[in-house]
Amino acid sequence: MRTVSPIVDGPLPRVRIADIECRVLLAPDYDPQFTSSAQDSLVVAIRADDGTVGIGECDANPWIAKACIESPGTHTMGQCIKDILIGSNPFEIGEIWRRMYLGTAMNGRRGMIIHAMSAVEMALWDLCGKLVGKPVHALLGGKPRDFIVPYASLQPGGHSFAEYRDALVASALNAKALGFTAIKSEVTMNGPYAHGGMNEPYERHTEVVAAVRKAVGPEMTLMVDVQYLWEDAATCLSVVRDWAEFDIFFLETPLWSDNLEEIAKLAERAPMKIAFGEWLATRHEFKELMDVGHVQVAQPDVGRVGGIGEAKIVCDMAAERDMLIVPHCWKTGISISATAHLAFVTPHCAFIEYLPPTLAVERLRRELAQEELRLENGRIPLPQKPGLGVEVDWDVVRKYTVA
Ligand SMILES: [Mg+2]
Repeated sequence: MRTVSPIVDGPLPRVRIADIECRVLLAPDYDPQFTSSAQDSLVVAIRADDGTVGIGECDANPWIAKACIESPGTHTMGQCIKDILIGSNPFEIGEIWRRMYLGTAMNGRRGMIIHAMSAVEMALWDLCGKLVGKPVHALLGGKPRDFIVPYASLQPGGHSFAEYRDALVASALNAKALGFTAIKSEVTMNGPYAHGGMNEPYERHTEVVAAVRKAVGPEMTLMVDVQYLWEDAATCLSVVRDWAEFDIFFLETPLWSDNLEEIAKLAERAPMKIAFGEWLATRHEFKELMDVGHVQVAQPDVGRVGGIGEAKIVCDMAAERDMLIVPHCWKTGISISATAHLAFVTPHCAFIEYLPPTLAVERLRRELAQEELRLENGRIPLPQKPGLGVEVDWDVVRKYTVA
């Protein structure tokens, strides 16, 4: 089984993992009707026996993720992740991942345990980077790029069509003013995850896309995310054929994620690239998406797919198939930084999803962690700080910890 471990020249610090702490965070103003997973987080802190701490998080229900890491093991195929970690050499990330994957296989292999392992694995990269004084991208191998291009992910509020459209246009213009050269517009006014109980006809989705394109002008790269709106390729095509004139870079998750045959039909016929992958766990689910779904853009989420190393394996699979990578990330600065470090050593990563704190409505995104990444002329220059380069505000962590 291929795994990914830090590449470090010279002798490694002789440390062992002493402890792992899992905190469930929840924004006190969270709205269960809001389609945004950035209202909660599981923050994992892994402490080495020299006192160095690495931080990670995953994008999945934080109570369940915490249980996935801390629940006692009862047999060899259902072990406790925390027990696997304690006493291990943190630089053996690939070997630790293999032991977690095999040791939890009866309960895991996919889904929640893999998402929880993502937080653990991310924290190990942060820890190793801090232990050797190097940024994570420098431990991943390959020459990093000088910069990566972020896109602003825009998710408006609003409970009516006009409110929604106007909020989206306003945030698109804000993103443009901040210097972004690419944006992704959520257009989710119907389907299983429609905002605020909206149920708008498809023509109005076209109206919103048209309004955003008109507002930002022809130079802006525009992506659209409809969050599993349609059930089949034919219905989707009957609407998005008209979107060719809006020059959409990709259409994200237009159909149900498991409906790979329909996804393949759509990817063949749509007038834009088709992007999927935000929910997937492990290389195995991506192999299916790529080889049956034939999407043009794969979107691994480092906090769900199994961590930075598993995301790197997915990136390599995309390169073999001439597919683009545009990672998914809708979380705090911890995951955004992890995504960025991976993107710096992934030449076929076209953009990263980047929600600037100033545009975020979610308070965890705004308050929890300050990433080193900064936007300069629409680009993010190469980070230099050790590890993920994230400063976590521990007062904020304590304030929002609920378990
Ligand atoms: Mg999405």
